[in-house]
Formats: sequence, structure tokens, C-alpha cells
Amino acid sequence: MSRLSFAQRIVNWQRLHGRHHLPWQNTRDAYRIWLSEIMLQQTQVETVINYYQRFLRSFPNIRTLAKAPLSRVLEHWSGLGYYRRAHHLHAAAREVMNRYGGKFPETQEMLMALPGIGRSTAAAIAVFAFDQRAAILDGNVKRVLARHRAIEGNPSLSAIEKTMWAVAETLLPKRNLSEYTQGLMDLGASICTRRQPDCAHCPLRRDCVARLEQRTHLLPTPKTAQPLVELRFHILILKRKQRILLEERVTQKIWTGLWSFPECALTDDVAQVVKRRYGLTAAAIETFPVMTHRLTHRRLIMTPVEVDVRGRLRTTASCRFLSREEVLRDAIPTPVRSIILARI
Ligand code: SF4
Repeated sequence: MSRLSFAQRIVNWQRLHGRHHLPWQNTRDAYRIWLSEIMLQQTQVETVINYYQRFLRSFPNIRTLAKAPLSRVLEHWSGLGYYRRAHHLHAAAREVMNRYGGKFPETQEMLMALPGIGRSTAAAIAVFAFDQRAAILDGNVKRVLARHRAIEGNPSLSAIEKTMWAVAETLLPKRNLSEYTQGLMDLGASICTRRQPDCAHCPLRRDCVARLEQRTHLLPTPKTAQPLVELRFHILILKRKQRILLEERVTQKIWTGLWSFPECALTDDVAQVVKRRYGLTAAAIETFPVMTHRLTHRRLIMTPVEVDVRGRLRTTASCRFLSREEVLRDAIPTPVRSIILARI
């Protein structure tokens, strides 16, 4: 029976079974590694690949990203969700240019001082780009550690997370940091999956407490569900001569910085809202079936109302009439894109 260390088993497994050809692998370019780590924070690898490649075509290095207006960065993020990541990405690019002359700092601590880079992301960049010795602890790694060590309690609780960080640090090997780090990520993504982990093919099966005690389905301990807040409102599709009105979301809590349809309360008189806010006259109004969209802690229940409008746009708000093609090129939330594709 193998008596290799935890880390050595991960490294050996990664060499044989891990991923080696993702677009952000086989490079030491901190910019590319950072970009992939930010995109992967809340998004699956398969989805990230296209976004990552398209993003790099437009912003091939930190200089081009820092120089670009935020709206252009958001356009490239459109559909990927969790838009705060794009805001942070842009802010961090500017900071790296201004404070470090375009060269990423190399230590985990200095990387963590940049917007949007937490401890685990900083560690991943430090390992992959600069060959530093640092521990990662993303969602996949938390799951592996929770099961292998039978760590009870939800990993998002600070006391549990602290324990996990301590475990992650003690498991770090002295060499092969990149393969070890990649291996942990790959194992969590492909073998020690949330449902039905493939323990038979896992290099950690010999001493995995959750497997030995048949508790893999109980670990990690799930979060106590947060109540989902439901928000119900009208979305207004204002059309004038084949063009659609979009408004920039400046102060709203969700989708900040994106362009979207105007909204109003279900109790509002749509024709009056259109007149009062935009100085436009509603010539015809059609209500579409209700649609829902789930965000992390909110369910949006939206009733689209299409309004043919006449007159001159009169408003101080940041809004404009755009063609369908222009809208689809803009930084728009997923439900707006779905409506445009399905109905306009
Ligand atoms: S043995 Fe099973 S539960 Fe334990 S780490 Fe491997 S895949 Fe996960």
C-alpha cells in the first residue's frame, strides 16, 4: 500500500490524470493567470474558456486593460455574471500600472492588496506565475479537505475556514508547487465532486476519513439556507422605430455599470412612467409572460412590457436608443440578452 504523502499523491495523480492543456496553463504570465483565476472564481471552466480567449484578444496585456474604459471591460464580461469581478479586474489593472509600472507584485501578501484578489487567488497567482510556496483554498479544495480530514462545519464559517487554512498550509509540499496546486483543483473538480465523488479513482482514498466512515455525502457540512428574497417588477421595453431604449445602471445594487431595460413597480401606470421619466408617449402597450432570473440571494420575477413610444427623448439619465445589434454588443445582463434574442 502506498505510503506517499498527501502532496506527493496529488502531484503524481495530477501528472497522470490532471488537466494540462487549458488555455491559461503552461504560461508564467501573471496577467493571464490572474485573469483566469478571477474568471474561474464563480464560473465553470467550460464557460470561462471562450470568455477568456475573447477577453485576451481585446485586452492582450495589463496595459491595454488598464487603458480601456470600464464600459468596454463590462461588455466583455456580459453574460459571465458576478460583475463585481470585472469592476475589480479593471481597478486592479490600473493599480498594477500605477503602483508597479505594469509588473505584478510577486508575493501573496502584495497580490492580496490588489482589488478583487483574496488569499486563495493570490496564492494561485503566486504559485503559477512566480513559483512561490503558498496554499490555495477555493471551493474545490475546501471540499477535498473537509472530506479527507472530516472537518465538520460549513467551510464559509470563519472558524472552520481558519482550521482549513491551517490544514492547507501544513499539507504544502516543498517542491512541485504548481503541479500540487493544479492537482488539488483538478481533483476537486473531477473526482471529489459535490455529488457522488469517485472515491475508487481518488489518490487520497487510503486515508480519507469521509470515505472510510461512509460520510462523503455529509461533508462538507452544508450551509444553512439563506432566505431567498423575491423582487417583482416590470421591465420596460421601449421601442421607437426599431430601436430599443437602454439605461445605464449607475446606482442600482445589482448589475451596476451594465446597460439594461428601465424598470418600474408593478403598481405603476406604465404610460405615465414613460411620460414622466422620458417625455415619451406610449402608443401601444403589450405585456409578455412573466420571466424569472435567479441571483445568489434574490429571485427576480419580471414582467416585460413592450411599449411603442413616440416623441423626443427627454431625460438627464444615462440612456439611449440602440439597434438590436448594438444592444447585443453592449454590456447587458443575461435576462436582457434573453429577451432581445427571443422577442426582438
Ligand atoms: S476518497 Fe472520495 S471523498 Fe475522499 S477525497 Fe477522495 S474522492 Fe473525496
